[in-house]
Formats: sequence, structure tokens, C-alpha cells
Amino acid sequence: MIYGYFGSVPGSPHQRGYHALRGNGKTLSLTFTGYCDHLAGRRVISNYKTTFSELVSTEIIADMIQEDDLKDVTILLSELQLYLNSLGGSTKTIRKFIGSVVGQSRKRNVDIHYDTQRYQDIHVRMRVQTDRIFIPRKYHYDGSPCQFDRCEKPHIVWLYQHEPYLEEPLMALKPEVIGKLYDSNELVLMKWD
Ligand SMILES: [Zn+2]
Repeated sequence: MIYGYFGSVPGSPHQRGYHALRGNGKTLSLTFTGYCDHLAGRRVISNYKTTFSELVSTEIIADMIQEDDLKDVTILLSELQLYLNSLGGSTKTIRKFIGSVVGQSRKRNVDIHYDTQRYQDIHVRMRVQTDRIFIPRKYHYDGSPCQFDRCEKPHIVWLYQHEPYLEEPLMALKPEVIGKLYDSNELVLMKWD
């Protein structure tokens, strides 16, 4: 299956009012679902550093997706649009990559989770193949939505599902707990030095 975590999805009923766009909990949600898979005994590979996954650069993960015969693995790709953009305007290359993602995700217990800031930033081919689309929303303990990117108050992240649409949030996540599983200041690993 392919899962996408977005900072914003224009027109989604879950996108009401003003919310901080950056740091709204998408990588937090990505990390949490990967951690659940890890606890279930699955191999987890990510393009950013966590306490439980294998750190592999985005390009190498892309190679694995396109060339290896993956099975029983969960792949976490943060900021997927950076990789797609790095492919330039080559439609053929993008189609090959997305075709491989789809092919791998439809077999042998392979799950691919990605996050990105804006829905529009992800290639339309990738979007239509994404099985589940999530929108995390960050709130304070008093129920008010967080509107600031760099806010020091304690938060609760409610994970909403936009596609297929679910009215109620799937779960509530505590950043102060799940944040310990990864370094939220760490950049996505794009290339080995
Ligand atoms: Zn806040």
C-alpha cells in the first residue's frame, strides 16, 4: 500500500481554519506508523534518522524500489517532493519511478509511506496511486489549533484521513513522546558524501 501524509490538501473538509503549515505533525505521523510496523517485527527503512529504522539515502531507496525485489518491508520517505523534483522534468524517469513504487507496493507486503508539505507538490500520478491520504493537525491541550511554526506549547496531533474520507480522526499523537523516536531538526538524507 502507498500512504501519503500531507501538510495541506486544498479543499479537504479537514482543512478548516488556520493551522501552522510546517511542523504540523506529518513526519511525526509518518514516524509513528513506521514505529508500529517496527514493533510488529517488520524491517523499516527511512531517508531520515530514527531510533528504530535503517537510514538509507533517498536515491538508494529509489534504486531499491526500482531494481530490487522488495518484500516484507516498510519504507518511510520524508519530503518525497525533493526527490521527485531532483529528477527534473523527465517524464519518462518520473513515470518509471512511480511505476516501480506502485508495482512494489502491490505485492509481497511492501508498504511505502511518504510525507510532503503540499498536496500539489506531489506528481499527480503519484497522488492517484496513493491508497490513503492523511492530514495531521496540531492542537494545544485547550483545544485551540496551533497556528505557529515555532510554538513552544505542548501539543496534540490529531491524524485525519482525507482519502478515503473519514470524518473522525484516526488517532491522537503526543509529539513530546513520539518526537523522541526521531530528530525533527535533521534534514532528509538525499545523498551519501
Ligand atoms: Zn502551538
